[in-house]
Amino acid sequence: MRYVQKVNTPQFFIDDTTELTQWDEYYANKKRNLKDYILKEEQSYLCIYCESKISNISSHLEHIKPKHLDISNLTFNYHNIVVSCDGTCHNNDADNTKYHCGHRKDRVDTAFEETKFLNPVAVLKIREYFKYNFDDFLITPSEKGIEKAQYMIDTLYLNDGGLPKAREKALEIFINKMKKISDIKIRKEKMKQVLNNENIAFISFLKFKYSTA
Ligand SMILES: [Zn+2]
Repeated sequence: MRYVQKVNTPQFFIDDTTELTQWDEYYANKKRNLKDYILKEEQSYLCIYCESKISNISSHLEHIKPKHLDISNLTFNYHNIVVSCDGTCHNNDADNTKYHCGHRKDRVDTAFEETKFLNPVAVLKIREYFKYNFDDFLITPSEKGIEKAQYMIDTLYLNDGGLPKAREKALEIFINKMKKISDIKIRKEKMKQVLNNENIAFISFLKFKYSTA
């Protein structure tokens, strides 16, 4: 999981929502514009939680702090709104189960514990709370804050569905791409550049791999 910096609330969002009180009154076509904006401006088309590559279609607007906890203050608070995958991104075609991320988290809304929740738009060093295994590709807590990291992994089900396999695949793709550069010096530069761009799937996992290599 990585820190994502929110930009200032865009004027179009203020205009579109200023007279609304309920999320359901916010029209579907306008929600799509907001999703596009956040994905492009803030998230590089990666899920806020699992870092799968997502599009406008395979994702949803996610209230980090569940809006039912304080409808009037949280529903249209731009800094509480991010884009999450639907938890189905690595499923087989026929399988619509929402295995992880925002929709899965919503099921445990009543148990949302703000003091344990590592908010990706607020915790600058969120990446340091997690490490990864390279035999089973699971995400696990680092020493930084085991209780919080474990709470996030459990609440968002970050080892469920096809996520471990997808991490493995992302590494494979990355390695194969880099192998094509025969000059070692150029390859190293390119690796650094790609990892610094922060816009490929499972970027935190890849960065962890190469920071500890
Ligand atoms: Zn996700």
